[in-house]
Amino acid sequence: MERTEVRSALARRKRKGRAPEGGGLRGERRLCRRRCRIVYISIWGIMLLLHAVAWSSKRFCDWYVSRVYRIWVDTYGRAVGMVPFSVGEMLIGLGAGFAAAGAGLGALWLTGLAVKRYERGRNQGGDLKEAQRKERKRGRIPKEAQGKETERNWRWETNSGREPEPGLDMDETRRKEPERQAWHSRLRKFIRAYCRAGLWILLGIFALMTLNCYILYHASGFAEKYLEAAAAEYSLEELETLRNFVVEQCNALCCRIPRNEDGTLSYRGDMEETAKTAMRQLGETYSLLEGFYPNPKPLLCSDFMSRQYVAGCFYPFSMEANYNDVMYLLNRPSTICHELGHLKGFIREDEANLIGYLACVRTEDIYFQYSGYLSVLYYIDNDYREAADYERYLTGAAIHPQVHRDNIFLTAQERARIEREALLDTETVDAVSDSIADASLKLNGVRDGMVSYSRVVELLLRYYDICGYP
Ligand SMILES: [Zn+2]
Repeated sequence: MERTEVRSALARRKRKGRAPEGGGLRGERRLCRRRCRIVYISIWGIMLLLHAVAWSSKRFCDWYVSRVYRIWVDTYGRAVGMVPFSVGEMLIGLGAGFAAAGAGLGALWLTGLAVKRYERGRNQGGDLKEAQRKERKRGRIPKEAQGKETERNWRWETNSGREPEPGLDMDETRRKEPERQAWHSRLRKFIRAYCRAGLWILLGIFALMTLNCYILYHASGFAEKYLEAAAAEYSLEELETLRNFVVEQCNALCCRIPRNEDGTLSYRGDMEETAKTAMRQLGETYSLLEGFYPNPKPLLCSDFMSRQYVAGCFYPFSMEANYNDVMYLLNRPSTICHELGHLKGFIREDEANLIGYLACVRTEDIYFQYSGYLSVLYYIDNDYREAADYERYLTGAAIHPQVHRDNIFLTAQERARIEREALLDTETVDAVSDSIADASLKLNGVRDGMVSYSRVVELLLRYYDICGYP
């Protein structure tokens, strides 16, 4: 091939982006970046397509939950479950640090940009005149210097009206210029790499949340899968029966449960293992709940969670069931089972409440039983109080005072300690947390947001309609 032909072939390849431009290594890098961009955009495209399909096809979501999602639980969930602490919590901390560092870098970059513009303004004729006009207005250019404002004398005049220092003359500035430019270039490269990493992290979070959470919101619920045979509506009498049943169970268990001499409670078994066993037992009836369960993990920031009245949380991006280990002991068994219910694909709150309740009340463990009944008592009692008139409400089974004492989120001592150590107002933290949780649920198609927790009452009515009271 002749020389000219080689050149034209190279030019063609350059236009197509396949030939190294300005050197082999640089070209390779450019090619690699282009490939990464294609992969990046493709993953976004696939995820958005999955969203579109999930919002329009319940059948696809049901297939996904029963066939694909459980693979993630058995592999990814299993691997993360081996780590002894909450990986999700740690990732949130790292993410916050990364975002804060990014904000710092952004501020640095903007400052650099502003300084550069200012300096360019000083060096350019048009901008120089404008700057001189401003300086004259401020009276910083002495009368004798006015009229002969060369670039040089303006510079030192504006530099606090003194002659330039010998070490800061123009030659020195010019000598330092390449060094400064190199530093700017390094910073620019670092910021670019940082932004690229940030974009990949965002994509990773979006992909994990899509696969482990967003699609699940559009699948058939627990009631559609397992309580389809129940009636659609219930009378006040049926609600009253349910309420009296749960109150009686609580009243009986509050007196039977073993207590310390001072009346406090302590659990002597392995609560996490008992919760996993309870869930596996429930899986014998409801097939989607069978199989592998990773270890539930206590949250390191349980104090902070307590101030938001958060009992537990399921992190879809790490597939972990986490619980608050500062809250009152009796809240823990039902919370752990609730979070494990999410992990098995039942992402809606009312369903997870029902699963937590059923797993607890079906075990032999008295702490779990009591925790299960307590977890739904006030939802049912509130609904009944709203539906029945006051006289009728008073004729229902009375709640034992000990049950009221046991149905707390935090003990008085823990509450006082947390309030003492708090940096922010608890009410504000709680309000912000509720708003975020409410918005997140509504974005995923749960129209009543946080109110959906209380829909467990309807599910309980349907459950006892099919199974009957023991
Ligand atoms: Zn939940």
